[in-house]
Amino acid sequence: MINVPKGTKDALPSESYKWQYVEATLRKVADLYNAREIRTPVFEHTELFVRSIGDETDVVSKEMYTFEDKGGRSITLKPEGTAPVARSFIENSLDALSLPLKMYYITPCFRYERPQAGRLREFHQFGIEVYGATTPYLDLDCISLAYNALLSLGLKGIVLRLNSIGCPKCRKEYTNALKEYFKSRLNEMCSTCKDRFERNPLRLLDCKSPICKEIGLGAPKITEYLCDDCKAHHEKLCQLLNDHGIPYVIDQNIVRGLDYYTRTVFEFVTTELGAQGTVCGGGRYDNLIASMGGKQTGCVGFAMGLERLIMLMEAQNVDFGRRYPDVYIMSQSAEYVDYCMKLVNVLRNNGISADTEMSGKSLKAQFKYADKINANYGIVIGESEINSQTIKIKKLSDGTEKEINIADLSEYLLKNI
Ligand code: ATP
Ligand code: MG
Repeated sequence: MINVPKGTKDALPSESYKWQYVEATLRKVADLYNAREIRTPVFEHTELFVRSIGDETDVVSKEMYTFEDKGGRSITLKPEGTAPVARSFIENSLDALSLPLKMYYITPCFRYERPQAGRLREFHQFGIEVYGATTPYLDLDCISLAYNALLSLGLKGIVLRLNSIGCPKCRKEYTNALKEYFKSRLNEMCSTCKDRFERNPLRLLDCKSPICKEIGLGAPKITEYLCDDCKAHHEKLCQLLNDHGIPYVIDQNIVRGLDYYTRTVFEFVTTELGAQGTVCGGGRYDNLIASMGGKQTGCVGFAMGLERLIMLMEAQNVDFGRRYPDVYIMSQSAEYVDYCMKLVNVLRNNGISADTEMSGKSLKAQFKYADKINANYGIVIGESEINSQTIKIKKLSDGTEKEINIADLSEYLLKNI
């Protein structure tokens, strides 16, 4: 037997309604904020990710699914959604549209990681990309969208952690100070951090190893190094978040894993998912588009991991909404199946999700099946029902019954589902 590849999962028919509920909710919230969907290919030229994410990041140096296609091109399955959107923005001259432009995506992502709960090799992201202004209002709008998305999903206890990592100008001085601090403790730190020390010191604050994390706590704080413009941006955003009642904590150790961030960086974090507690990560990346050959464009965005959202919703017993079908029609015996098939057809034409017996089951087995498929209502059709044109409709969750005319069935269901 062939199994699913390590680190991937099927969304089974019994569980897929959760995905549909989450995706539909996220689309609705994106719509409220006037964001439009963008769909980009599942694979891109490898170069796109190397150049935009940065070859010193874990994603590019260790986690990408890269292969050569039959034409000899180096291709990579997308490990994240921002670089493809930026590529498309430049390639399709989307800056010619009215800016700011708000886009969202729901996409599979691929990273070669060690699979654990909440960490897969194929996972899914909902992401927002807002392009076209450098004002803190854009940061607020983006964070507010993420906050409302989490609330709309019914999630509780998720903390917004906010930081600013400045611009390349002020970050330079800060990274020098960081190197100065870490230099004397480097021998206690993990091998990856020893590597990061030379190549990307900011990332020393991003390490997940407990000892490196602890050492990181005593590191110099970025806020003391921000230039006036970056500081003003950060302070204005904090004020806006306060005004809008969006709670946050400043966490100076949030630097985000990817190279392209400038100024605002943020995460939404829960303590309920162990080490995989970050459900959403985002920030501002004003230099990304220019570094990829486009015009200088203020950008802010985030990505949420859908697997982590669903795990958390399950842990918090959130209701994932209604399950189909609305009604299951049972046949007293084989000779009434023709009639049942016609009846479900009428119901479906009236916008009601309906199904009926087709596999030679006994009536008892049909009741069991109706339960299994989570039908809201059950109806039994036999000779007397057909002759009298009246049926008993049973709410399967509590067993209550009501007698109605078959002619009134659609109307009754539409009122009661
Ligand atoms: P982590 O620190 O957990 O590795 P990250 O910084 O690599 O996360 P991002 O690149 O910011 O994550 O991706 C945004 C979101 O996508 C994360 O907050 C998380 O919810 C989700 N995510 C990232 N990697 C995975 C994965 N391998 N499996 C499942 N979800 C993931
Ligand atoms: Mg990661």
